[in-house]
Amino acid sequence: MTERLVDSFGRVHTDLRISVTDRCNFRCSYCMPAEGMQWIPREEILTFEEIERVATVAVDRFGVDTIRLTGGEPTVRARLPVLIDKLARLEVDLALTTNGASLENMAHDLAAAGLRRINVSLDSLKADRFAELTRRDLLERVLGGIDAALDAGLEPVKLNVVTMRGVNDDELLDFATYGRERGVEVRFIEFMPLDAGEAWDREMVVPAAEVLETISAVHPLEKVDRGNEPAERFRYRDGAGTIGLIGSVTDPFCASCNRIRMTAEGQMRNCLFAVEEVDLRGLLRSGAGDDEIARVMSGCVSAKWAGHRIGEVQFIRPARSMSQIGG
Ligand code: SAM
Ligand code: SF4
Repeated sequence: MTERLVDSFGRVHTDLRISVTDRCNFRCSYCMPAEGMQWIPREEILTFEEIERVATVAVDRFGVDTIRLTGGEPTVRARLPVLIDKLARLEVDLALTTNGASLENMAHDLAAAGLRRINVSLDSLKADRFAELTRRDLLERVLGGIDAALDAGLEPVKLNVVTMRGVNDDELLDFATYGRERGVEVRFIEFMPLDAGEAWDREMVVPAAEVLETISAVHPLEKVDRGNEPAERFRYRDGAGTIGLIGSVTDPFCASCNRIRMTAEGQMRNCLFAVEEVDLRGLLRSGAGDDEIARVMSGCVSAKWAGHRIGEVQFIRPARSMSQIGG
């Protein structure tokens, strides 16, 4: 490895997020319309071999050391453990973000294939609210999935909670209690303007500082060194674990962002909020060599901007929703 994926602000990119499908078995109201999106035709989705090729270039040429599989819902992609097995051979920190509904059946196979850790998205611990939010009555199945992930040794298991004013901001302490009891790190994520329904409003954002204050008032917390993480991490003073706060809107981590993304149909994005993409699938399918793929990846990263501008007049909402980018 001789090169790095560096942008014009000197940020080195070592974290690759790969969406393996745009399809999903949930319809979270803050992410997808009730009827789902227009799914991408299967032939336009990268094959496992194509995904492996891009990942290998990223790792071998540029020292990418973290790969996270996401979607849509990654567990709806058929034969996912086969892809995990291929990517595990690259010896990277291999992680998965999932809605958790299939983990009761899949967690052990994923771990056996080489998956190291997992993030489960869960925005309510109340069954009726969960059903309303996801449009699926599957809270018990997701909770069972979290237990299955712990049982399979996919640790640390982290919980992603998107906090939304008037929707689930009354559950902050319930989530804290759940995390403390189960030994999972709950990460509270500020709601971002990437919802398919375009319902996002700044008033709906629950500031990370408010989450900290609410939980710390009952279970005192102290800061943990952040490192390169987007999450600010805090530990309970009584030793009952940690929480993460992702202030994507009120305290963006753009200045230390080390992430790049590839969509299910092989479009490379240098930012969650990027309005332009680079077509890797076209390159892969036209017989391009690794040098050409590496050159295009490097160009995509070098064009990265300083950061998103949510709340400023210059902010441009990307055409894709979160389910099409992968989070
Ligand atoms: N289906 C998988 C899941 O739900 O974990 C992976 C894809 S999902 C798009 C990835 C993450 O994005 C989830 O944690 C989800 O809660 C989060 N997300 C979706 N829409 C969001 C939004 N508008 N703002 C903040 N996070 C969002
Ligand atoms: Fe599906 Fe994840 Fe979006 Fe929910 S957040 S609709 S589970 S992609």
